[in-house]
Amino acid sequence: MKSTEDILTILENVCDPEVPVLTIQDLGIVRDVRVISEKEVEVIITPTYSGCPAMNTISMNIKFELLAHGFEQVIVTEILSPAWTTDWMRESGKQKLKAYGITPPQYNTVANPRESEAVIPCPVCNSTHTTLLSQFGSTACKALYKCKDCLEPFDYFKCH
Ligand SMILES: [Zn+2]
Repeated sequence: MKSTEDILTILENVCDPEVPVLTIQDLGIVRDVRVISEKEVEVIITPTYSGCPAMNTISMNIKFELLAHGFEQVIVTEILSPAWTTDWMRESGKQKLKAYGITPPQYNTVANPRESEAVIPCPVCNSTHTTLLSQFGSTACKALYKCKDCLEPFDYFKCH
């Protein structure tokens, strides 16, 4: 029978449909795993943004991935409380975001809950001379910025 660790390793293959370089493990949305029997497993996740359309795709991808690994019954349970926060994102996930051209969340929502004071650096040239173009970028969880030095527009993954 597979162990919880085996399942967590398998889940490293499930990506975020909105930012394909990030796995659901990078995002920190997997809260718990229960191996019920040889053929049955439950995965407990906390959605990143409530009503985020990507979450249905994520649940489906979790099921596909575990079915491909020999499970016959895969239950995906969503728990909404406590709510997911960008603080749960792994450091490796933040590095991947930056390499992908998206500035990762810049502060810890618990330690420093004032986003307006955060400087959002450019993911291309690291310049801090950036300006907000729109609170909403390609998706609702990102804001659109522009770098005043290299002139690149870029997405910022907002904290919450
Ligand atoms: Zn720049």
